Amino acid sequence: MNELPAELVDRFQRRVNYVRLSVTDRCDFRCVYCMAEDMTFVPKPQVLTLEEIYQLAQAFTELGVGKIRLTGGEPLVRNNILSLVERLGALPGLDELVMTTNGSQLQRLARPLRDYGVRRLNISLDSLQARKFRHLTRYGNLDQVIAGIDAAVDAGFERIKINAVILKGRNDDEVVDLVNFVRERGIDLAFIEEMPLGAISEHDRELSFCSSSELRDLIEPHHPLSADPRDEASAGPARYYSMADSPSRIGFISPHSDNFCHLCNRVRVTVEGRLLLCLGNEHSIDLREVLRDPNADLAALKRAIVDAMDIKPERHYFDNAGEPEIVRFMNMTGG
Ligand code: SAM
Repeated sequence: MNELPAELVDRFQRRVNYVRLSVTDRCDFRCVYCMAEDMTFVPKPQVLTLEEIYQLAQAFTELGVGKIRLTGGEPLVRNNILSLVERLGALPGLDELVMTTNGSQLQRLARPLRDYGVRRLNISLDSLQARKFRHLTRYGNLDQVIAGIDAAVDAGFERIKINAVILKGRNDDEVVDLVNFVRERGIDLAFIEEMPLGAISEHDRELSFCSSSELRDLIEPHHPLSADPRDEASAGPARYYSMADSPSRIGFISPHSDNFCHLCNRVRVTVEGRLLLCLGNEHSIDLREVLRDPNADLAALKRAIVDAMDIKPERHYFDNAGEPEIVRFMNMTGG
């Protein structure tokens, strides 16, 4: 068998040094663009154990992956999540442990997450109006989330970024309010264009679509934006802008209007152990099979990951009109 490489590189010479691990497909919210109201979740026996997720993290870091994002579903509703975070915080070779969360549990958990080594947080927030927030999330309590964001600010993370998905006619009147919210706290904000992942019936994705350039036009009259070259390497798909009178940065993630696949450095693992090579394609391999094979060891897991690089697609093609090509919801994929 060939020797294992020290780095993951795909057919298009893109180095993969970032993995997003979904620790659960369950969530205490049901955001209208992310999940159906009635969701069927993965049965427990098919869900990776925390030990299996740790083994995945070990395999990836030994293959030169320096950044892990824990996500879901809502990562902070997974039982004993802190025990995994604590172990990952001490994992040799891991430079950056980060998390995406809806913020509902942060009042309680922000401090331990920071203490165990989580460096940055992305927190989702689409509205600052309690009723609208409840409608968009179906279950969310805005006060609880804002208190969670403030607890995270107090806990001293290196960076906190709010993620917002803007839907025309729903929360596009709050774009400037969201910018003001992050300015008051000195944190960052990224607007994400809605992607056609999973079939939803709550709204028509084509009609509700708001492009990044429309959002910039809404912000500019209030807060002039200038392109921010800082941190280009770790910016990922977001294009960042700064404001002369604030440390907050405003980012735009534009999977439709500004394709960024040539810069892709990441892969995802679902909570069932499916290694997804691209958010917008179904190319994947089953790592749970390897994890649960009594004859397979860490080297076999690493070999499976290395071989999977050969099927990483060149790019995604999203189309909000008609049926989504990707039937899995974002909570399965791990956002
Ligand atoms: N529960 C956590 C949270 O709310 O941030 C983590 C998982 S959630 C799937 C991660 C991110 O994906 C959130 O910021 C959410 O807004 C975004 N998201 C979910 N579905 C999306 C879609 N169809 N298009 C664009 N972004 C989406």
